[in-house]
Amino acid sequence: MNSLRTSSRSRRHFLRAVLQSAALPLASSVSPAAVQPGTRVVVIGAGVSGLAAARELHAAGCRVTILEARKRLGGRVCTDRKQFGGLPVELGAQFIHGIRNGKGEVNPIYRIAQESGWKMKPFPEDSGETYRAGKPLSKAEDKALVDLLDEFETWLIDEFKDEHEDDISIPLERAIAANAKENELSSQELLDLRGIIASDIEEDLGGDARRLSVDGYDEDEEFAKGEDQCLIEGYDQLPALLAQGLDIRLGCIVSEIDYTKRQINIASSQGDFEAEHVVVSVPLGVLKAKSLTFTPELPDAKIKAISRMGMGVLDKVILQFPARFWPAGNWFLNLERTAPYGISFSSMEAAHLGSNILVFWHFGSHAIAHEAMPDAELIELVMGHVRQTFRDIDVPAPTATAITRWSEDPFSRGSYFYPQIGSPISDIKVLGEAVSDRLFFAGEATSKAYFGTVHGAYLSGLREAKKVIAASKD
Ligand SMILES: Cc1cc2nc3c(=O)[nH]c(=O)nc-3n(C[C@H](O)[C@H](O)[C@H](O)COP(=O)(O)OP(=O)(O)OC[C@H]3O[C@@H](n4cnc5c(N)ncnc54)[C@H](O)[C@@H]3O)c2cc1C
Repeated sequence: MNSLRTSSRSRRHFLRAVLQSAALPLASSVSPAAVQPGTRVVVIGAGVSGLAAARELHAAGCRVTILEARKRLGGRVCTDRKQFGGLPVELGAQFIHGIRNGKGEVNPIYRIAQESGWKMKPFPEDSGETYRAGKPLSKAEDKALVDLLDEFETWLIDEFKDEHEDDISIPLERAIAANAKENELSSQELLDLRGIIASDIEEDLGGDARRLSVDGYDEDEEFAKGEDQCLIEGYDQLPALLAQGLDIRLGCIVSEIDYTKRQINIASSQGDFEAEHVVVSVPLGVLKAKSLTFTPELPDAKIKAISRMGMGVLDKVILQFPARFWPAGNWFLNLERTAPYGISFSSMEAAHLGSNILVFWHFGSHAIAHEAMPDAELIELVMGHVRQTFRDIDVPAPTATAITRWSEDPFSRGSYFYPQIGSPISDIKVLGEAVSDRLFFAGEATSKAYFGTVHGAYLSGLREAKKVIAASKD
């Protein structure tokens, strides 16, 4: 997940975390032979959740094989080292989101990075500028904008959500309209509110306000204490570390899981595999696309949950210029008069000084439409936004570019889960439920507390490993 500014969303999450957070499962120290000797487990997917599960199960004494469709590790953690002169540039997950929660528990990814001695640099969300009609907002105007969002979110949670409790059919869009009416917002205030919601909520969750469920909004938690961190030498250090010593088959596309018999049969592009337990860690988007066949079919409740749940889209267009022409700061938001109302860029200077890289972030239906465009056309569209945002500057042509298309990616089919209208938040739990105590489901979309994040994926892998270990003893 991306998040742009310090808003009430983060602060409210912090308060919720103080009140609600349970003890976090921490990295493993299961003793070997915690399972029946020789228990065979196949993990499908070598993203962070699959790797975390496999590592834990391997440590417990299972014979683990990971089947991964891509020819690389990491899934949605994807560091490019080719297109920008060797600089590690993130095409997927970008930040370690926060350090501690309200109970003082440490983000497990931050802890791993610290213990591994990886170089990190903070990336404060509230550093940067917001522009309206080409002019940076003054400090007072910027504060008014953040206040507008704060007031909206307080009203949304304390009043609107209360009035419409458990109604899963109400999109955020309706709440925006109701708020504007109730508070008699001027047309400019409404545009501003839409702009900050675009950057702070829609982009963060990867879904359009007309699809985002008010019921599911704000149901997750955060490690809200401490700035986001960038891994200077690449996020891919994480999957590389987790994968050490594991049996991983790359380029192995799983097509069918037959769990009719005690020995589960897994059909793949590299032939059949057998195991007593299977951990499915493929993205929700892949399950929604029915790229995997289950025999017998998955329970009805799980099928319904999968079809209702939202798979959001967050994409990046990464542009490198001969020199930095934008001001110092991390995040730049241009408030626009038409949808999506807020256009965001981040600068990579805080992570890589002198890289001259600007990242354009787009989400939801806009991102899906952009993915269908040819590269040159999309770059020109984005350059139009750059020129529009930094209006008084003679913007040079980029020297290198990269485009992500997470929605078109057959092994992801979207960026991450978002609470979609029509889907109760309990769908997350249903997705994560084991089937017949032999088929287990990990992945960010199974994490109610931390969906859409690397730490959510990691913790879901540990959670499922624990379940497999318990089941293997029965
Ligand atoms: C653009 C973007 C920005 C993000 N930014 C952040 C951020 O800043 N911070 C953060 O914490 N999170 C961020 N995230 C979210 C984070 O990347 C994910 O939540 C996390 O990496 C998901 O891990 P996972 O193990 O659940 O899934 P994945 O990483 O997707 O792993 C699933 C694996 O299954 C494999 N697979 C799929 N189909 C098959 C098949 N048929 N057979 C075999 N294997 C298969 C896939 O190839 C993949 O490797 C971002 C995501 C995106 C897309």
